[in-house]
Amino acid sequence: MKLVLLGPPGVGKGTLAVALKDQLGLNHISTGDILRAEMKANTPLGLEARKYVDGGELVPDELVTRLIESRISTPEIYSKGYLLDGFPRTQKQAEDLNEILNKLDQSIDRVICLDASIEIIIERLTGRRLCKNCGELYHVKNKPPQKEGVCDKCANSLYQRADDNEETIKTRMEVYTTSTRPIITYYEKQGKLKKVNADTEASVVLETTLSFLNE
Ligand code: AMP
Repeated sequence: MKLVLLGPPGVGKGTLAVALKDQLGLNHISTGDILRAEMKANTPLGLEARKYVDGGELVPDELVTRLIESRISTPEIYSKGYLLDGFPRTQKQAEDLNEILNKLDQSIDRVICLDASIEIIIERLTGRRLCKNCGELYHVKNKPPQKEGVCDKCANSLYQRADDNEETIKTRMEVYTTSTRPIITYYEKQGKLKKVNADTEASVVLETTLSFLNE
């Protein structure tokens, strides 16, 4: 199965992606995670990406599309199926993805579009913490680690993303509204999209999504 996860920053795409990956055995491809890994390693791509990511702006289309193309063209990845998290984020990316998939004789089966109220999104983003080592997601209130600031899984320290501050969140929400939201119509027209309310608990969001995928 090949899936796309859409939705504003902080809506819970990452959490749902990990749960779907575990349930369905899909490859989880997150452009945000890939870019952060490149930034951490100070690669030329990471240095270029940092100019945009820390300020909440989108990295240029060609750069992220190339990253996605190299992954979804790999037999080990497409044979198992995958879940695209954070890509596409612009109409151009959606169209380029379509072209790449046509060339590979693949297609997206379903698009899940999460949405939540702005208050919940801000609360989720400002309280979000990640493990520096394994990337496990936490939230200071909703999913705190057993020991403050320490990952339950690998005992490394947790950090707050540089772009999870109120000022940058505002920019990211504006970018979402202007550049990403229009893709909803693009996939709706193809009859592949399901809107899922993500104001609720992660387990309910997962259940709703799985029943849609089983339809
Ligand atoms: P995320 O982890 O999905 O919230 O992404 C973090 C940041 O990475 C975004 O705010 C963008 O700066 C960059 N990014 C991730 N995915 C894309 C994409 N598909 N297109 C452009 N920039 C992206």
